[in-house]
Amino acid sequence: MDTLFTKIINREIPAKIIYEDDQVLAFHDIAPQAPVHFLVVPKKPVRTLNDLTEDDKALAGHILFTAQRLALELGCEEGFRVVMNCNDLGGQTVYHIHMHVLGQRQMHWPPG
Ligand code: AMP
Repeated sequence: MDTLFTKIINREIPAKIIYEDDQVLAFHDIAPQAPVHFLVVPKKPVRTLNDLTEDDKALAGHILFTAQRLALELGCEEGFRVVMNCNDLGGQTVYHIHMHVLGQRQMHWPPG
């Protein structure tokens, strides 16, 4: 069965899309936790970070690089945070890996 994010990638569910290429889609989070909060999602539906393999190393780097480039484009050059939640204990709710990018407010540590 398709994940929620695969449905967004396939345009079956609307989203505010920021960027797309052959490997990833980036779109604004529906429940933003900062003035800038978007997700970078691989088109390949990897379920959790635990499921990444050696073959996914270039894809993982592309997700991070896309996050950095879009964060800068969206005015977060003074600082931003990237987050990837893994599994229930890590706070993951959508089982299709994604990188959160949050910016334009002061971040705190430790996260909740
Ligand atoms: P996580 O809890 O790390 O799995 O993150 C899932 C994120 O997806 C949450 O921040 C949700 O707000 C976000 N989300 C859920 N449904 C949608 C949607 N239809 N469009 C955009 N973001 C969504």
